[in-house]
Amino acid sequence: MRLSLLLAIALVPAAATAQTASRFTHADTLRGTNGPDRSWWDVTFYDLHVTAHPADSTIRGRNGITYRVLRSGKELQIDLQVPLVADSMVQEGRRLAFRRDSNAFFVTLPAAQKPGETHTVTVYYHGRPTVARRPPWDGGLIWATDSAGHQWIATANEGLGASVWWPDKDYLADEPDSQRIAITVPDSLFDVSNGRLRSVTPNGDGTTTYEWFVTEPINNYDVAINAGHYAHFGAIYQGESGPLTLDFYPLADHLEAAERQFPQAMSMMKCFEHWFGPYPWYADGYKLVEAPHLGMEHQTAVAYGNHYHNGYLGRDLSHTGIGLLWDFIIVHESAHEWWGNNITMQDQADMWVHEGFANYSENLYTECLAGKAAGSAYVIGTRANIRNDRPIIAAYGVNAEGSGDMYYKGGNMLHTIRQLVNDDEKWRGILRGLNHTFWHQTVTTKQIEDYISHASGIDLSKVFDEYLRTTQVPAFEYRITGDSLTYRWADVVPGFAMAVKATVASDSTYDWLHPTAAWQTTVVHLSGPASFRVDDNFYVKVRQVGSATP
Ligand SMILES: [Zn+2]
Repeated sequence: MRLSLLLAIALVPAAATAQTASRFTHADTLRGTNGPDRSWWDVTFYDLHVTAHPADSTIRGRNGITYRVLRSGKELQIDLQVPLVADSMVQEGRRLAFRRDSNAFFVTLPAAQKPGETHTVTVYYHGRPTVARRPPWDGGLIWATDSAGHQWIATANEGLGASVWWPDKDYLADEPDSQRIAITVPDSLFDVSNGRLRSVTPNGDGTTTYEWFVTEPINNYDVAINAGHYAHFGAIYQGESGPLTLDFYPLADHLEAAERQFPQAMSMMKCFEHWFGPYPWYADGYKLVEAPHLGMEHQTAVAYGNHYHNGYLGRDLSHTGIGLLWDFIIVHESAHEWWGNNITMQDQADMWVHEGFANYSENLYTECLAGKAAGSAYVIGTRANIRNDRPIIAAYGVNAEGSGDMYYKGGNMLHTIRQLVNDDEKWRGILRGLNHTFWHQTVTTKQIEDYISHASGIDLSKVFDEYLRTTQVPAFEYRITGDSLTYRWADVVPGFAMAVKATVASDSTYDWLHPTAAWQTTVVHLSGPASFRVDDNFYVKVRQVGSATP
């Protein structure tokens, strides 16, 4: 139950909105907006039962959608993507009439329902769902074969949406309070889904049903099938909220490699609980599950496909070598348990709340392993991946995703804000405070931005506008004449006045400067103009300007 009645405020500059508005369709609006046939009901429970048939790549199942009535309503929008077919929809023993509009179904109830009531619509469906072309990015169903020749079925559908394989209210701001995920697969396979395994039922027809249950709110896109030839081992982690079960499901052939690699989950958990607060899902546990794609933050069942190597597929995204100290997928995808799963965006446009913080978490994990200087070098190293091609925040209401800069630029913005806070314990309190305040909730970027400004005591609104809503990077422009430093911000949004550290009093110490878009002058004590430096921990450009400028 994370339905929010807050409206996301569109803060994308008008020009950017105008440029992009034309590419969105009616279907995008149905998908991305809390429309009239969604907003009157709040999902409380999904009862999902799906049989996967690898022989012909089809699925068949049903989802019981239980909801609480918020405002009187008579028509529900339920999402299920083409080419899947809804066979029937039933409520309280009655078949309901419905019509299809691309990937959305509109279901008519016999009479308007009253606020406070609880009802269930069960949707029966089948078909051959979209096959993922390039998972996890271009997602859908994955019908794979492992290296030993066993069938291997998985799902990955962030962005695309859960409705690519099961019917639901495919809207990020409404999560169920709990969910059953009962997956039926051939007897030779073992399914690992989210939450805890409640029952295993051989059906006597060559198939077995694995009933998993999530007792806490879950993102629709995190609900997953992972059915393969798995081995299993586990551990207990003594964490901030007591004993936490860690369960590991590598392919049977990869058990030894997993026994070497997966213990990184222990040091990850220790580091992230220190910085972010308790792991958000003690009741449902933590799992790593090998998947036939690179990885995905599937809640309590993190999908892992990094081939048991450190780095990102053996590479270091920071270009410093530091990223080879740890397994990128274990660290990054698990960081999403806090940033993405505990705190979830209400609109895809605000995805930086997931990816900016997950990217930032990589440098905190590096700091836990190798010290603060290594963490800083890592996040600074990832700046080479920033493109400044489009704003990080996309258009609202159409399930649109902003620039991939949400990762590296988002992480570097947060690293810059840490410098502004200038107090590591206070900064840690802010990160923990975000997870505590928005515990198991969906949020807008505005809530996150306002919280950080309020908790830090610094008005960061223009900092967020600059980094999240433009393609600019603040440029520190300066000129040194004798012992006189003249400086200002250029390439910034109106009112931008971020403080920054630079060598002022000596060649080897950093002092605060408070530039604005207007030129200012101060006295410096340097051995020469070449000794002037801006602290590299601030993600800004530094530009020496000629004498023609004042
Ligand atoms: Zn991520």
